[in-house]
Amino acid sequence: MLTLRREDSPKGVLLPDESRCHPGFFTQETKADQRTAILCVHDVAQLLDPAARRELTHVLTDLARRRLRPAVELVGIERGDDLVLAATLALFVHFKSTRIPVTIVASPQRLSPRLLDRFERAMKKPRLLLKTLEHATFARLHYLIGRGDDAAVEAFAPRLRFVELIGDGDQALCQRLARILDIRKRNLQFMTTRRCQLRCVYCPAEKRDADLGREHALRGLALLLSGESRSFRIDFTGGEPLLRKDWVRGVIETTHERAQAAGKQDSYYLVTNALELDEEFCQFLSGYEVELEISIDGVEATHNRNKIVVDPSVNPYQTLLRNVEHLRRYDIRYNAVLVFTPDTLPALRENLDHVLSLGFGNIAVNYAIGYFWPDELIAEYVNVLVDFVERFDLLDAAEGGEVSTGFFLKNLLHKTEPTVLNSELMLDCDGSLHLLSEWQFPERHRRHPPPFRYGLEELKSIDEVFFTRAQVYHLLFEVYRDEGRELLRIIHNSVHMGLEVSRQLKQRLGTRL
Ligand code: SF4
Repeated sequence: MLTLRREDSPKGVLLPDESRCHPGFFTQETKADQRTAILCVHDVAQLLDPAARRELTHVLTDLARRRLRPAVELVGIERGDDLVLAATLALFVHFKSTRIPVTIVASPQRLSPRLLDRFERAMKKPRLLLKTLEHATFARLHYLIGRGDDAAVEAFAPRLRFVELIGDGDQALCQRLARILDIRKRNLQFMTTRRCQLRCVYCPAEKRDADLGREHALRGLALLLSGESRSFRIDFTGGEPLLRKDWVRGVIETTHERAQAAGKQDSYYLVTNALELDEEFCQFLSGYEVELEISIDGVEATHNRNKIVVDPSVNPYQTLLRNVEHLRRYDIRYNAVLVFTPDTLPALRENLDHVLSLGFGNIAVNYAIGYFWPDELIAEYVNVLVDFVERFDLLDAAEGGEVSTGFFLKNLLHKTEPTVLNSELMLDCDGSLHLLSEWQFPERHRRHPPPFRYGLEELKSIDEVFFTRAQVYHLLFEVYRDEGRELLRIIHNSVHMGLEVSRQLKQRLGTRL
């Protein structure tokens, strides 16, 4: 049982063998009946130390063996991030043994009533408490980044790893938590090729002459099929995947066959600049559950300025418009992604209207990662989105109702901010698995290989791989902290921008978003 109590620490009697206790972390007390032993945790920050967690587990087991009823009280909680850690510890104990009651004793004088209310409600349901933890850690991080306090951000970073802390290296428990949070993977990005006909100004993908081989792709497919989920998706990305249309076709045919044999539902997502899209390929795609993401940045001048061609005889904008017609003819699902930089933000309104006028019914607007976005530009971006939503009365669409205007802005429904904390898993051309967000700042990789790297052979099931946004942040932080202050500043700014955009949209468009 998990509870939150708004009062001072409980009174009790120290157990005789207090020498067992971890100094400073917890002490033991007994209730008057001498049958219940309370472990009072005085310094929840020590939860970050694995030795302290082991000690706590050991003492709880020992008490049960001695036929004492163990209970845990987390006392002296006076700050928001301590409350987050205390809740993490409560879940740690809960998931190790549900029979042990855990109470967080919080100081109402020092903690905001809203935060306490939120936690009080969440304590009744471990699932809700897990989600509250993620929300609260991000709110705290946002606040620290907003204050520009680098030292405080660094000190806070380890506290974001709550799933790992609760799971404490127990893979089965971590998987259970991932199931509760619904963060298990059902898709895999195939880095089809690292070649591309374009050099978009904001593109983080390193270009070289490397393709994903069939063997690696088949292993990736086996990994997807290994999951519990009844459906899965392959995302073809790159570089430009349509430089390898025959290969993509072969992978889809094989995957579909194996999915049917396994009784699973397969689907495909393909990110493309559309330069190589042709009628024959669209006809093939029309036989499968497919969606294409078309990268279009607005009017011809903006699009062609962003998308620098390797072959100057190609006009990326005109070619795209011509080829998208094939998708329409074969009734294939597609959406548009419009990326803007600080340079093209002043023309965002015009560019968004233009993409809409071209007949794209499903549009996502992405700010480019890797730039520093001052608060004035963030506000300008939000203004454009709000104006767009109000002009076309898109809020019904955000509620999942009828899309009366015939199109919708993906940002309202499907966009998970901050996008820099993308937790997609990517299979690279050499057969290694990576977290996609690792590649968003390519400067680093000129000097070092990316750090998160599973060999395909090491994983038994895709269900072993999951990341909360908090874990992704932690990983990025660890990866880039030695790469200089400037890069870390840009990463923190991207996190800030994502959280700020969500906050402002919610504030201006109401709670329906
Ligand atoms: S088309 Fe895609 S992969 Fe190619 S440069 Fe542009 S963003 Fe990068």
